[in-house]
Amino acid sequence: MTKKEAFDTLFAKNEAIGALDMAEALIHWDATTSGVPMKSIEARGAASGWLSGESFRRFVAPDTQECIETLEALDGELTTIERAMVREVGRRYRKAKAIPPEEFQAYSTLLAQAEPIWEKAREKRDYNMILPYYEKIFAFQRRLCDWYGYEKHPYDALLDDYEKGASVEMLDRFFGALREKISPLIKEIGASGQKPKEIKGTFDIAKQKELSPWLCDFVGYDRERGKIGEVEHPFCTTINRHDVRITTKYHEDNLLSALYSTVHESGHALYEQNMDEGLTVYGLDEEASMGMHESQSRLFENIICRSRAFAGQLLPKLRGLFDYFADWNEEELYRAVNIARPSLIRIEADELTYSLHIMVRYELEKALIMGDIKPADLPGLWDNEYEKLLGLRPDNLAEGVLQDVHWSSGAFGYFPTYAIGTAYGAQLVNAIRKSVDVDTAIKNEDLSPITGWLKENVHRHGAVMLPDELLKTATGEPFDAKYYVDYLSEKFTELYL
Ligand code: ZN
Repeated sequence: MTKKEAFDTLFAKNEAIGALDMAEALIHWDATTSGVPMKSIEARGAASGWLSGESFRRFVAPDTQECIETLEALDGELTTIERAMVREVGRRYRKAKAIPPEEFQAYSTLLAQAEPIWEKAREKRDYNMILPYYEKIFAFQRRLCDWYGYEKHPYDALLDDYEKGASVEMLDRFFGALREKISPLIKEIGASGQKPKEIKGTFDIAKQKELSPWLCDFVGYDRERGKIGEVEHPFCTTINRHDVRITTKYHEDNLLSALYSTVHESGHALYEQNMDEGLTVYGLDEEASMGMHESQSRLFENIICRSRAFAGQLLPKLRGLFDYFADWNEEELYRAVNIARPSLIRIEADELTYSLHIMVRYELEKALIMGDIKPADLPGLWDNEYEKLLGLRPDNLAEGVLQDVHWSSGAFGYFPTYAIGTAYGAQLVNAIRKSVDVDTAIKNEDLSPITGWLKENVHRHGAVMLPDELLKTATGEPFDAKYYVDYLSEKFTELYL
């Protein structure tokens, strides 16, 4: 096989896989946002299953291996982008092939059963319902570490699935810094007795909906190349480079929920929309990592749109829609969107306490993988960790160990990307501030200096670079938790202490 033949084969595969994935994404979008007939669920499920199966079969076909071997042997002759393609296809292929097919089949069936059982177990607050599934899933994950292989820590093998190159060594350092600096700060804030004014009341949903387009435009999400849908759990999905859709959810009694989820998903969408179109043929028009994707949403959600400058822009908009805000001032609004209070539910956690929720999950996953703890012991260990880190003890399993879907869907090693991504965001904004006056951009309601920087230094590169290399190239430094820790400490000390 010549170099040209190898690339042409991979390009043709990407084209076919891209078409299959686009069809599946459309089915998923339609199913989640359109209220489709219940009777079609089975037929849709079968079609979706076939599409993803076909996509996988095409990818793992024997000629892929031949292409990889041919191109890896030519490494010195390849351009940067070609080398990145070979690297990505190679790592994905080796991972897909590492799992014995009969094990993969049994595991897929297990996961399909586990998720609905988890939902029931959560509803009934009965850990014994899900325990046998957890035992099998966790056992599979431990075997997966060996199939994938690792150098230092077995959990590294799983982390790499979501955050390429991440390791226990890196995460221990990161969470160690949070434990040392942020955990005491949360306790100090709790003891300060400060009680900021809160946004309470009911807010007409039709009026809330008027706010969403403004928020999308503010972030820079191009609505002409996308769409806004409504769902139970908001997400962003890419149909193709010119059709990146977001979703949000409106609650009459929680104005901030839709507001910040719209900003969050717009941040994800901006990343997708700004990737170089030339990367598509190489299959590199995707995020550098899950953490890097999350950095883009959280950077807008928290650092930009929970800033004092943004409160100044938001207040007139809110006043125009809701009489409720007639007697509010900017400082009160700034404080109200930054209330820091330990809580039990991760997805409702505030900016300051969020990463501690992740730390609990990280430590438990690591211990499970090492065999230091048993799945049966998780509920008690979970509650103890929450009490230690956040000073709260769950009343029941639904607000404790059964709150997240991740473990029943086999997403092991996923949680840390939420925290790492948030920290990437802080490091990126620190770098942006060297050449951009961030507050002035917000006050001008023109974030183009910020989004332009992000497009140039992060978005357009897609998956060409690994996340650590991308962050280093963009900010001039390797990943350092200090930017996140400093940002949180300064912001919340000024707010509360
Ligand atoms: Zn997100």
